[in-house]
Amino acid sequence: AVETPQDRAERFAALDTHPLARDPDVTLITPRAPMSPMTHGGRAKCLQRLVRLDMPVPRTVALSFAEVHRIAAGKMPDMKRLLEPFGEAPLLCVRPSSEGADWGGPGAILNIGLNDARYAELSARIGTEAACGLYRRFIQSYAVDVARLDPDEFEEIEETGEAGLQAMLRAFEDEMEEPFPQDPAVQLAGVLRSMARAWEGTTARILREAKGAPVDAGLGLVVQELALGLGQGECGSGVIQLVNSHSGHPQITGRYLRQSQGRDALQQGAEAIFLEDDPRGPSLQELAPEAFDELIAHTQLMRKRLRAEMQAEFTLVNGRVHILDGVRVARSGRAAVRIAVSLAEDGIIPHEEALLRIEPRALNELLHRQVDPDAPRDCIAKGIAASPGAATGILVFSAAEAQAAAARNEPCILVRRETSPEDIRGMHAAVGVLTERGGMTSHAAVIGRGMGLPCVVGVSDLRFQTRQNTLTAADGRVFREGDVLTIDGTNGEVLAGAPDLMEASLDEAFQTLMSWADDMCDIGIRANADTPADAQTARNFAAQGIGLCRTEHMFFEADRLTVMREMIFADEPQDRRAAIDRLLPMQRADFAELFRIMQGQPVCIRLFDPPLHEFLPHDRAGHRELAEALDLPLSDVTRRVEALSEYNPMLGMRGVRLGITVPEIYDMQARAIFEATVEASRDGAAVVPEIMIPLVSAKREVELVKTRIDAVAAAVRVETGRNFTYRLGVMVETPRAALRAGEIAQHSAFLSFGTNDLTQMTYGLSRDDAGRFMSKYVNLGVYPEDPFHTLDTDGVGELLTIGAERGRAARPDLTVSICGEHGGSPESIAFCRAAGFDYVSCSPFRVPVARLAAAQLAV
Ligand code: PEP
Ligand code: MG
Repeated sequence: AVETPQDRAERFAALDTHPLARDPDVTLITPRAPMSPMTHGGRAKCLQRLVRLDMPVPRTVALSFAEVHRIAAGKMPDMKRLLEPFGEAPLLCVRPSSEGADWGGPGAILNIGLNDARYAELSARIGTEAACGLYRRFIQSYAVDVARLDPDEFEEIEETGEAGLQAMLRAFEDEMEEPFPQDPAVQLAGVLRSMARAWEGTTARILREAKGAPVDAGLGLVVQELALGLGQGECGSGVIQLVNSHSGHPQITGRYLRQSQGRDALQQGAEAIFLEDDPRGPSLQELAPEAFDELIAHTQLMRKRLRAEMQAEFTLVNGRVHILDGVRVARSGRAAVRIAVSLAEDGIIPHEEALLRIEPRALNELLHRQVDPDAPRDCIAKGIAASPGAATGILVFSAAEAQAAAARNEPCILVRRETSPEDIRGMHAAVGVLTERGGMTSHAAVIGRGMGLPCVVGVSDLRFQTRQNTLTAADGRVFREGDVLTIDGTNGEVLAGAPDLMEASLDEAFQTLMSWADDMCDIGIRANADTPADAQTARNFAAQGIGLCRTEHMFFEADRLTVMREMIFADEPQDRRAAIDRLLPMQRADFAELFRIMQGQPVCIRLFDPPLHEFLPHDRAGHRELAEALDLPLSDVTRRVEALSEYNPMLGMRGVRLGITVPEIYDMQARAIFEATVEASRDGAAVVPEIMIPLVSAKREVELVKTRIDAVAAAVRVETGRNFTYRLGVMVETPRAALRAGEIAQHSAFLSFGTNDLTQMTYGLSRDDAGRFMSKYVNLGVYPEDPFHTLDTDGVGELLTIGAERGRAARPDLTVSICGEHGGSPESIAFCRAAGFDYVSCSPFRVPVARLAAAQLAV
């Protein structure tokens, strides 16, 4: 007979009449028992939901956090009352139920209630061997987890079968000086006490706090009637889910093991039976088609009603299905996206919730290649994860070798102490970069992120012997030129050999999620893009313009680098003029191309800010090469390099200081920008370029530069006979510029905070050298995080707030933004949004992460 809603209501009401169904601490799980994830934990609450869905869940009593806390303190509940719902001679299991699904907890203990009498009865029913296995298993876990006896004592027992069982009981008795407890109430009390105490132990607390659990996180316990997967007919246990955990695509998958219990089916080497037709083995579908269909129906119902993709843990007893538990399906980042999108598309959750379910950084997994999470990892060192993605290649120790390897079509990892502009060619040729020094904002990191090239920097636990072209790991292993290594720029690991990699996948689920994110986003997201390739990537990721084009980066390519150096090296104005005249058309073409690609979206061009040392050759060979290229005597080059060298180049002749002392450079750039503007506006919509002055510390700097740029604009207007406008702004990278933002804003249409330099100068920390002691500092808690990695909202953040406020007070229509490497991180986006910034700008490959993070803030 089909059950009517009323029959069902009555049946549920009958269940709810049990006294324990109303007990807030020792709670029989029934449809309306008083329980929540905050009082009884996630597992208990989930079981209640399954009960409400009418699933065949074995009888379960859930103990509240408060109850478990009392148990740990030695105050046991009334055991007779607790055992009452389970009838005579029960067999039970106890599992942890914490508030957060990932906070861990003590392992489950099965087969509680097994004693000599029960063993004899079971032997008759399921055979001595099977019964003996269960009893032994219980004695062992009781001995180790509850009585805290030495595990070796029990593992070393060699006898099998009945003899082994007796040996085990004897071992227990010898150690404890009392026989193995026979009373289920005594056994259960022992199990509950040990699990409750394990949770309160220091190690367990540290472990869960590392996973984000609060200090006082509670543990609930669920005591469940054991559905025995051993016996007559089709018996066994397993798990089932409806999607593939790696891809998130629909696929019925799981394992089942006949005559088993717990998670035996998932053990390595278990002769599991696969659920659906599977080339790897027989399937449950053939073995027990009805149970199979029922399991699918239950799992589908869980998905729909628990609003999540679930894995069901089940047991078959003589062909009958029991659902022991439901947990959220384990998933990779890409599977998480597909699962969330498909739940929303099926109308199970709203779009907003789908957005909230994805950790923004998990998108990195879709944007870059990854080491297959199932692949074995032979990690030889760990550094700073400077640019995400994994890459495998042969080791090369110079840019030239990298190019040679690329010419042979051999993927290579470029290894350097640190990189400089001379390595750019090598970086283009390599599939990944590994450096001994540096941090999140050093050259390799910034360029690597911009190119989407995996990069691990600051690897201090590997010895870099760049003369011998070897790397030595802490364990003594030596890796030579040509050896194969893998770097994982997502977590900073360096791995020996070539583990399996997973390709990036910007599939339609990703695109859908991104379109929902854009509907919500209320802060602009631009990209830092220096080259046409970067700009194209930025567009592909739907950035809303370019927030920072570092023009000096346009000169990292070999042929241009020489002209750039010629300009830097020029002693005489006419020599400099000649170099500048050669740079002008290159720059004009670059800008025209950027405008074309960005199709009318804003493009913010930063005038030259070359820390000069980044453009000088470092060694004798480099000097010689340069002397050749410039057709100068070697001694001239050496002398000039010396004359230009600074003790502290990061605080030296950089940014606007160069622009003011050698104004022809900025004049040339302004001209290139305006000529490109005229050219681009000819065939499309009018382009309004944004010109940004770097490293400003005084209002007068802005005035001087502005006067000259206005003059260039006027000249270009006259020469071309075309009108155009432009926006001039200031990059706030010195503490003084932030403090004096009020007066600086008088001449600026926008302020953009360069938090790399601003962090460097606020802390007085060198962005290139701090990596050497940063991990120590962070480990000691001196800094909570590397401030080059995570925006220091207290200190640097205060300068941002002050700068934005003072700037806006002076000029209400001021555009305010951030363009340092922090711009893409979810934490700094939250900060900037709260401070009312107009947009953030970050590396093109971080744009999707930023779009999602921003959308989550707006939900
Ligand atoms: C900055 O200083 O934050 C910045 C974006 O400029 P750069 O990294 O080029 O110094
Ligand atoms: Mg800077």
